[in-house]
Amino acid sequence: MPELPEIETVRLQLQKAIVGETLEGYVIYSPRSVHGELEKFKDQKVTGIRRLAKVLLIDFTNDLTIAFHFKMTGQLILEKNEDGTVSKDRIVGGHPTEDFVRKLPSIHTRVVFKFGKGSLYFNDQRLFGWVKVGTTQEISQMAFLQKLGPEPFDITSEEFISRVGKKKKPIKLVIMDQEVIAGVGNIYANDALWEAMIYPKTLANHLSNEQLDTLFQKTKLVLQEGIKHGGATSSDYVNLEGVGGHYQDHFRTYGKTGQPCKRCKTKIVKMEIGGRGTFYCPQCQVG
Ligand SMILES: [Zn+2]
Repeated sequence: MPELPEIETVRLQLQKAIVGETLEGYVIYSPRSVHGELEKFKDQKVTGIRRLAKVLLIDFTNDLTIAFHFKMTGQLILEKNEDGTVSKDRIVGGHPTEDFVRKLPSIHTRVVFKFGKGSLYFNDQRLFGWVKVGTTQEISQMAFLQKLGPEPFDITSEEFISRVGKKKKPIKLVIMDQEVIAGVGNIYANDALWEAMIYPKTLANHLSNEQLDTLFQKTKLVLQEGIKHGGATSSDYVNLEGVGGHYQDHFRTYGKTGQPCKRCKTKIVKMEIGGRGTFYCPQCQVG
């Protein structure tokens, strides 16, 4: 599942590539993936690309906005070659699959937006993702966006402590709860807890303010590192082609079962919390 750094990376790239471009046309391959009337976006210009937590928003003239939620398997690809073959400067973002490096559209393509400078493909293998289109106001009032908590970058340590520190749930579930703090997914939650030396099952309300402050700083640290490295692309064939991000080379614990802790050399252990794989060092992160 793409997380905040992966979405931020594609936002930054699309910002450079399609702001000022006019939507010349579109093809909807999967009507159930697209909600709202796309026709009124035709001939409108892109004015900006925004991100709210893990939702990417493309703003157009006439106060129109398209929102993308990637969920488990969504991806956006901007391809400049008209026949969909892979150009050198293809922009890829979201869930890494072979479609990153294959001719498009593929069987997973749900909608294509055609701009003068290329086509933007929204692909989604499992169809949990969505594209919602409407006025900028309609989109910003979507219940889903209204419920999102603030991102770690937008709050102070005191606010983080008051939002997180009262919950009687394992700290890992609390920081991944998008209504408490937006934008932290499984990869970065694992790594932030390792950095803060906190056992992932510790109840949030059992942590001291000092521990919560450390966790707040480390959460921002790992997200910033993720953005710096272009997000994570934990998929071998994609990296062979040189596309996608490289945060996977900097994982602290994520996916490292049996490998030595980078701090104390104890073997990293895997357990499940809320159905998600959780990786930690049993020596550095004690309950
Ligand atoms: Zn350790």
